[in-house]
Amino acid sequence: MSMLENKTGIVFGVANHRSIAWGIARAWADAGARLALAYQGERVRDRVAALAAELGPEVPIIPCDVTDDAQIDAAFETCRRHFGRLDLMLHSIAYAPKEALEGRFIDTSREAFRIAHDISAYSLVALARAAAPLMTEGGSILALSYYGAEKVVPHYNVMGVAKAALEASTRYLAYDLGLSRIRVNCISAGPVNTLAARGIAGFVDMLKHYEAKAPLRRNVTLEEIGATATFLASNGAAAITGQVIYVDAGYQIMGM
Ligand code: NAD
Repeated sequence: MSMLENKTGIVFGVANHRSIAWGIARAWADAGARLALAYQGERVRDRVAALAAELGPEVPIIPCDVTDDAQIDAAFETCRRHFGRLDLMLHSIAYAPKEALEGRFIDTSREAFRIAHDISAYSLVALARAAAPLMTEGGSILALSYYGAEKVVPHYNVMGVAKAALEASTRYLAYDLGLSRIRVNCISAGPVNTLAARGIAGFVDMLKHYEAKAPLRRNVTLEEIGATATFLASNGAAAITGQVIYVDAGYQIMGM
């Protein structure tokens, strides 16, 4: 039996074929899960529809801007009607105004701080609250973080602080939802060349730095992140919750 046979899930954060969410959606679908894809904005609708068709003939695509509670409720109502219940949810969403990812952290405006935290961290709480009632047989919620949550990565700035909030939220959600057998974990991924990543000043240098300094002397692939996400979603990870799992070619262990 495939690892995610008979499981249903919703994936937030596919923008294009480079998205980490797409790597995970493909891996979850290959492992037997039936999925819905939620996307932000008409701009990406056609692209997401084409990707959904690659996963199978009946993959709903659902518009959802996570700053809007009504759209979140509507997205999960679509899941309820389509699947009846849910087992998996992926949160692969982050955003901060571009100017906040360029200069000094100390210059972060109140508004940029608010937006980054709302979209990149609070949305996990809102989505988990909406998903939980559908996870009637337990479930697995997964979010994407980055090393800038725990160490200073120049230019990552307010996004690092938002990721710290995301990781702490993961632990609190894991506690709240544990009795319902819903697990909540983060993958902290090494740098991957995506749309969001290219918004960070000096991102290409980050890729080169990992290649030179990570124990495995290379960057990670979407397939590798997808494989770990499949394990975390599977019954094999039944006792793992509230954790941040590094998929970063080992970079996180280095001191110098
Ligand atoms: P991406 O640009 O492909 O994905 C980011 C997604 O966030 C997009 O699909 C975008 O539509 C969505 N989004 C932004 N604002 C939204 C809103 N208001 N409502 C709904 N969706 C919204 O880039 P990615 O690199 O695949 O990013 C996915 C996740 O992975 C993010 O949390 C990111 O921080 C994390 N991550 C990325 C890297 C990397 O190097 N690429 C490394 C570690 C963690």
